Amino acid sequence: MIQTVDELPITDRDPAAMSNDALHAERRDTFDITMFQDVEDELLDATLDRREAIWDEMASRVDAEPPACPECGAQSWTQTFGKPKECVACGLMLESDHEELIEEITEYWSTVELLDGNLYLGGATDDD
Ligand SMILES: [Zn+2]
Repeated sequence: MIQTVDELPITDRDPAAMSNDALHAERRDTFDITMFQDVEDELLDATLDRREAIWDEMASRVDAEPPACPECGAQSWTQTFGKPKECVACGLMLESDHEELIEEITEYWSTVELLDGNLYLGGATDDD
């Protein structure tokens, strides 16, 4: 079990100066911590902050925008494992009556996640 911040697999590198591969690797590490490790709140907060900084940098490198919230227009979504997607700004929970929007958000998140994968694919798609 991880007990101190020093043991966390996070760094203080500037995300903007990191390679796509480095961002991808550190994001995966932070994801494992938040999903699978039993850690103290303080460590979890540090990990979540780092994960957010890395995610923001990854999002800035893809040519895609998250869809807007139909209630407030914000473009920021979150999801706790096993729960519906939720607007960060107004708290709107997306249930089955927002299926299209849920799909658009999932697609956007995949686009950011695949930052690294897209490089390997060289932009080619199966439709070619
Ligand atoms: Zn909203």
